[in-house]
Amino acid sequence: MTTAASPVPRLEIRNLVRAFEGRRVVDDVSLTIMPGQVTCLLGPSGCGKSTTLRMIAGVEMQDSGEIWADGELVCNTIFRVPPERRGIGLMFQDFALFPHLSVARNVAFGLSGSAEEKRARVEELLHRVDMSRHIDSFPHQLSGGEQQRVALARALAPRPRIMLMDEPFSGLDNRLRDGIRDHTLTLLKEEDTAVLLVTHEPEEAMRMGDEIALMRNGKIVQQGAPYNVYTRPVDRATVSFFSDAN
Ligand code: ADP
Ligand code: MG
Repeated sequence: MTTAASPVPRLEIRNLVRAFEGRRVVDDVSLTIMPGQVTCLLGPSGCGKSTTLRMIAGVEMQDSGEIWADGELVCNTIFRVPPERRGIGLMFQDFALFPHLSVARNVAFGLSGSAEEKRARVEELLHRVDMSRHIDSFPHQLSGGEQQRVALARALAPRPRIMLMDEPFSGLDNRLRDGIRDHTLTLLKEEDTAVLLVTHEPEEAMRMGDEIALMRNGKIVQQGAPYNVYTRPVDRATVSFFSDAN
């Protein structure tokens, strides 16, 4: 047993590469995220953010590179833990609630255990996202923001060690967005989850990230604390990316 070991990253990706039709859309990407840390993968549309997330989730296979979680190999080019056994929660824009299931059944969807255990976890999560009164509602009876809160509860219910979020707030109107972002952050921090949040909005990355990884043309061009990335851009393209977005 080692005692003073350095902390093990919750998620580590090493030299991830994925090409489509000979073009590298993810080009040697490496990232390390500690438990409780939120890293925002920020970059313009088409730069390879979603493809990176899909490889970590296990629904897309990399051409080369490795994915590790809690010091264990999750995936390389010859070994692969299936998506459902990776301990990963997903909140994707196009990963909507199941329309034919009640809120309770949506949140219970990925849970195992007895009916009582599942019910208790569902009630706890719905309470924490302030949606208890909608436990028997169906998705179409909820507003966009309410649906998003249920989606968050569903993603957190199985206690994922890693949460992957792909532009999860982009469908919400501005008035609601700030509140839901803050609420989401609070919940994720409480669970000590490592979060990789994809966004094309600098403002969102500045607000939510402990760290920003700036991506362009498949590569991470800069990485660091939001303030440092914002105040010390590496090149002109980064300057205009930040200013165009304002
Ligand atoms: P982002 O999420 O940053 O907008 P994506 O990862 O979705 O970017 O896509 C990066 C690039 O890879 C885009 O040019 C996209 O068209 C291309 N791409 C993504 N998936 C596929 C695919 N299955 N086949 C071919 N090209 C793809
Ligand atoms: Mg995308």
